[in-house]
Amino acid sequence: MNKNLLKALYQSDSFSKMGHKLIDTLAEHLQNSISDKNSKAIRWNDPHNELNLWKDFLRNGDKDDFFKKVIERTTHTHNPKYVGHQVAPPAPITALTGMLASLMNNGMAVYEMGMSPTAMERITTDMLGQKLGYSTDSRGILTSGGTLANLTSLLAARKAKVEYDVWNAGHSQPLGIMVSEEAHYCVDRAAKIMGLGEQGIIKIPVTKEFTMDVSLLEAYYQNAKDKGIKVFAIVGSAPSTASGIYDDLEAISNFAEKYRLWFHVDGAHGGAAIFSEKYKHLLKGIENSDSVVIDGHKMLMMPTITTALIFKEGTHSHTTFSQKADYLLTDTDEEDWYNGGKRTFECTKTMMSLHWFVLLKMYGEDIFDQNVTVLYNLAQEFAKVLTTHENFELAIHPQSNILCFRFMVPDLPLDELNRLNQSIRQHLLEDGEFYLVQTKFNGIHYLRTTLMNPFTTMEHLNLLLKKIQVTAEKLLTSKTS
Ligand SMILES: *Cc1c(COP(=O)(O)O)cnc(C)c1O
Repeated sequence: MNKNLLKALYQSDSFSKMGHKLIDTLAEHLQNSISDKNSKAIRWNDPHNELNLWKDFLRNGDKDDFFKKVIERTTHTHNPKYVGHQVAPPAPITALTGMLASLMNNGMAVYEMGMSPTAMERITTDMLGQKLGYSTDSRGILTSGGTLANLTSLLAARKAKVEYDVWNAGHSQPLGIMVSEEAHYCVDRAAKIMGLGEQGIIKIPVTKEFTMDVSLLEAYYQNAKDKGIKVFAIVGSAPSTASGIYDDLEAISNFAEKYRLWFHVDGAHGGAAIFSEKYKHLLKGIENSDSVVIDGHKMLMMPTITTALIFKEGTHSHTTFSQKADYLLTDTDEEDWYNGGKRTFECTKTMMSLHWFVLLKMYGEDIFDQNVTVLYNLAQEFAKVLTTHENFELAIHPQSNILCFRFMVPDLPLDELNRLNQSIRQHLLEDGEFYLVQTKFNGIHYLRTTLMNPFTTMEHLNLLLKKIQVTAEKLLTSKTS
């Protein structure tokens, strides 16, 4: 056994050398991604080959190639032709806070293990509460993802709205939540984890504009009630992930108020519009919600993963996971905001508040406004082009930076059109210049773009349409010849 191995591992000299080199490599990658017209958004490899490649690298690869190879073999969110999933091209400064957080590695569950980041978390979540129109009673947490945050908020909702103590005594009456059928699948998953069962997830159909059909709320609620289900919460999507369309938060809040339901807003993607002077109207009614989720790693240019969960009433944040909430609360309430682990699902979590704080300190809230506004504006422009283009059909006029459309050929039957659009997407994936995704509404297959990169312009998007057209024509001729 080499006894010096641990010493070598923690050597600051080699850390410094490797670190500087890596930063230079990343800076070059950034530069190329943003401005090299020939760079690819993804170098597609099938999973089996990728696995073998890394197995081989572990045995035979040159360790000096490691960083470069990872960069080469991952999807490039900073490339303006990356228009795929809702993951931010992180602001480079947040890669530095990420590195800082990794090296300091404070676990955040108790105050002593993360003093500064705990304070920054309080500042960040207080700022978000204020932005949402909550009072100073608002409190929030940062947590590992929208999925976990939605589950946490629904647990808080159950604690607050169900008369008996499910946390300790288990279920004694069927419980339910109401949510749009277009909501993110994690809401469904959260409800299943909570033991609500299929019957406890009351899915409200959407209108033909893809927003929750609020005219159906009353009937669905009464129907659940007749079946003996105690509905305790209603979730609004802001927006729905697949379609990018916002639910009518004001109408939902009125309904929630009428039946004293917990009103939760899943703003994982587009809650960030609260920062946009131009687009915050999409969130009208959010100020009446009981809780809101906003992902920093989607529209706010932060690296995965940092999600804010904000409660209108801070006390609910404290009771979610507490066994004997009531007396704990009167004992400690206000002093104890700084022991995060009592309020988060996680025990250990990363020092994620650093990303929020550094952006606020160096660039101010304005940077969030600019990012959201630029990207939502671009979607409007792209939609205009798609609407006038004879070969393309927009699924729905966008409200956010998510756009779904398909390539159209007159007189081609639906199943062939679906296959064609699926093949287009597969070809584009394997080609790698652009990265976009796909979705299905009512049996119709669509290409789906999320404009996440503030450096994407109409020039890039016109090239994308051109590429789709050429690909489609090739596919159509190879089929008929
Ligand atoms: C992305 C998304 C989620 C899931 O959030 P993660 O941070 O990926 O866990 C939930 N809801 C909506 C509306 C989303 O867009």
